[in-house]
Amino acid sequence: MAKKKKTPPKRKTLPKRKTATAPVGAKPQSKARPDLAGQPYSTEEGASQSMLYDWIDCRMRSKLNLLGYRRTASTAALDYGSLWHAVLEHVGIGAQAGQVRTPADTIAIKDKIVLRERKRMSATNADHTEMVIAKLEALWPVYAEVYAKDWSTDLWVELEGLFDIPWHGLRLRGKRDGIRKQKPRGLRLFETKTKSQVDQNEIMEALGFDFQSLFYITAVDAELSARGMAGQMKGVLYNVIKNPSHKLGTKDSPTLAAYVKTVRKACEKQPEKYFCRFEASYTRTAIEEFQTELYNIVKDFTQWHADGMPVRYRNRACRDRKFRCPFRGYCSTGSLDDLERSGRLFVELEED
Ligand code: SF4
Repeated sequence: MAKKKKTPPKRKTLPKRKTATAPVGAKPQSKARPDLAGQPYSTEEGASQSMLYDWIDCRMRSKLNLLGYRRTASTAALDYGSLWHAVLEHVGIGAQAGQVRTPADTIAIKDKIVLRERKRMSATNADHTEMVIAKLEALWPVYAEVYAKDWSTDLWVELEGLFDIPWHGLRLRGKRDGIRKQKPRGLRLFETKTKSQVDQNEIMEALGFDFQSLFYITAVDAELSARGMAGQMKGVLYNVIKNPSHKLGTKDSPTLAAYVKTVRKACEKQPEKYFCRFEASYTRTAIEEFQTELYNIVKDFTQWHADGMPVRYRNRACRDRKFRCPFRGYCSTGSLDDLERSGRLFVELEED
């Protein structure tokens, strides 16, 4: 009997690039590309660390960002990070004001922020809102206990501090999660990151030359030197919080309430798997070396913008990164379906 031929699995094909259709013989129409003419961004508005970071990494990403293109839907990971930042900020403000002294005092503030953020998140994506909140509910009481010393009135110098400082012809702009006193070693930046995978060696190595931390330290330096107090910032305390995996619907977590209980129990048992802090100190030489590089970056970025933001090549090596660029769809197929031209250039600096 003749053997049955195996049919190969169906190949996946890329969606066709969008082009304008035209009758045969008609003049070729322009492709449905975004309107890259016009420059809503002016360097007089200054630059945040993420703007300069994008520019170093990929001219195309930088250009699309500066033209105001943004992803339409927020992701669950982004919402999880924003929720933690909002709760930490408001609990910290409570501690500064002397209203929060114990882990139990943090709960009412956390509940208030969850209520507010639930409305905001549901408006953009109702599907993941409850899961994002469940994760915070599972971890927050343990976090508040583990870092009970954070709730002291004289620890925080600044929380979610906006800065905007002239530096060699460009305004450096940003929002720092926090600055705290670290006796006896001077001031430390406090930066919170939420991550699904925590590789301690990788984080420590990367912190040694971290662009964001050194950019913020440069801005603090510039602010303090205006007051004759430069050089007080010594490093960064990196606060990493795990983003637990979704295991809803499993035997242990058939419902959201059961999921909260399971994750809480696991976190209580091994809090070090959910929360870690890393401290990096920077010598003056390392800070000055960064500032020399930043000076060149600022100069080249400003010139590139003045030249009309040419993109001579893209960073196609981005496909090997964990970070998922919001413009992958555009680079791959030319599609703008998941993007909007909101024109909001400093989203991370907007007050809530
Ligand atoms: S997908 Fe890659 S090449 Fe395209 S804009 Fe983003 S970083 Fe650049």
